[in-house]
Amino acid sequence: MDKFCQSCGMPLNGQDLLGSEANGTKTEKYCMYCYQDGQFKQPDLTLADMIEHCVPHLKENGMTEAAARKLLREHLPKLKRWHN
Ligand SMILES: [Zn+2]
Repeated sequence: MDKFCQSCGMPLNGQDLLGSEANGTKTEKYCMYCYQDGQFKQPDLTLADMIEHCVPHLKENGMTEAAARKLLREHLPKLKRWHN
């Protein structure tokens, strides 16, 4: 079963990538870049900010800017962090 970070959409395909709760246990909801010690590393980040943050990473993987933005706009709002 594939798991994705419910904040940035990154595939969580290794224990090292998992975020952590306040008690030190790993969480399978978020990645280490978004969530550590039971809180978001950037609590004020908006969905728009997250899209801007992710576009360069997708471009590095060979995606065009337009394709990256389209993917993120479709995918990120479905993630748990952005439901409200
Ligand atoms: Zn993340």
